[in-house]
Amino acid sequence: MNAPFHLPSVDKLLQHPHTATLLSAYGKTQTTQAIRSAVAEARIQWLGSKNAAATPNAETLIAAACQALAQRFAPRLKSVFNLTGTVLHTNLGRALLPQEAIDAVAQALATPSNLEYDLATGGRGDRDDLVEDLICELTGAEAATIVNNNAAAVLLCLSTLTAGREAIVSRGELVEIGGAFRIPDIMQRAGATLVEVGTTNRTHARDYENAISDATALLMKVHCSNYAISGFTKSVSDAEVTQIAHAHQLPMMVDLGSGTLVDLRQWDLPHEVTVRETIEAGADLVTFSGDKLLGGPQAGIIVGRKALIAQIKKNPLKRALRVGKLTLAALEPTLRLYLHPEQLATRLTTLRLFTRTEQEMQAQADQLQPALQTTLGSAYQVSTAAMSSQIGSGALPVESLPSYGLMIRPTERKHSGRQLQQLETAMRSLARPIIGRLQDDALWLDLRCLEHTDQATFIAQLSALTTILSHHHERHSA
Ligand SMILES: *Cc1c(COP(=O)(O)O)cnc(C)c1O
Repeated sequence: MNAPFHLPSVDKLLQHPHTATLLSAYGKTQTTQAIRSAVAEARIQWLGSKNAAATPNAETLIAAACQALAQRFAPRLKSVFNLTGTVLHTNLGRALLPQEAIDAVAQALATPSNLEYDLATGGRGDRDDLVEDLICELTGAEAATIVNNNAAAVLLCLSTLTAGREAIVSRGELVEIGGAFRIPDIMQRAGATLVEVGTTNRTHARDYENAISDATALLMKVHCSNYAISGFTKSVSDAEVTQIAHAHQLPMMVDLGSGTLVDLRQWDLPHEVTVRETIEAGADLVTFSGDKLLGGPQAGIIVGRKALIAQIKKNPLKRALRVGKLTLAALEPTLRLYLHPEQLATRLTTLRLFTRTEQEMQAQADQLQPALQTTLGSAYQVSTAAMSSQIGSGALPVESLPSYGLMIRPTERKHSGRQLQQLETAMRSLARPIIGRLQDDALWLDLRCLEHTDQATFIAQLSALTTILSHHHERHSA
């Protein structure tokens, strides 16, 4: 019963030479707390087992405290390898930014800037002015304003324009994006009354016409971002809905979702309607995301008629939804890359990933396959395989990009499910986790997002993977 009292005291452990490095790295408060927890944990374990021989010594307790501290101080937001095949992966942070944006953010973090300061007059400036001209030039719109994300952009537009009146939307466009964003819910929060027209698969011009009344505030089109309705379908074009709206002196708004600034067909990518095309179709307001196809920071961009944008900027919600300086610092140089379209596919990170060739990724797969096979040993079979990536974040949900990567299958069919799970877990527990995709009894690593600059880190981690997997193995055979 007295075995726990053989445990070294917290004070003694704090004096121990091994503790010195912990004290200097983590400080007295955190180290003392970690050692206290390690001792308490050991005491509980002893009470459970009553095995005096298993009482840990000072070094073991300090090692446990060290591990707990390292875990506690490790960053929670970690770099990962996105080998899921989805380039704009919302859960993995969507767009990766170009170097110009990274440099501008670093500078904005470290020094004061003219965020809301007019350097010409010395008076107060408007943060939107930093990017408004550029956005207008790239989209053909009269005016622009920026908020926290596209969901905020939609909320702000509806709140400004509808104020207790009705917004007309097709039933085929009442989308939900990633659970928390649903057009009907946003409408309600914005104080708009949703008037649904048409059916899920077919909406006609007359459906919009018939729904217009004195209570109507606007007609709205929503981009079907993450789904496609196929078969017997009919929707009304932006231009037609605009015509109907304008015939009744009503504004027409488009939630474009991803919203690209350039025609992607010039890089043999599938066509996605551009912001400019939407403005040219007559839309009075268009909202889109900064971190989807645009390839910039999280932001919601609202473009459209000058008078409407001015009205939106006066809404008190604008202040609540405004962007910070880091967003603007990142957005400006990203937009500027679009002024040089010939270089866009090399300098805009997301576009560079979209346009990687199959041959390039296949060569990379051939190069990595032997290293990964050696790491995983005979329990797994690693092969190179053609696969297909997705753009992601709701852009072009049914189109896929031919890609190449590695496919890993357990060698033995027996327990193959568990083995695959084990491998997937091991990859996620690396210092820089590797996130793949489980499909058809295999782990797929799509190499589209593994650029050559990251390949060395990927390879360097493989030995750690061996260690983690051999621990698993020991545990299961014990
Ligand atoms: C992605 C998307 C949104 C939400 O945009 P966030 O920038 O993620 O807030 C809204 N509407 C559509 C159609 C979308 O595709």
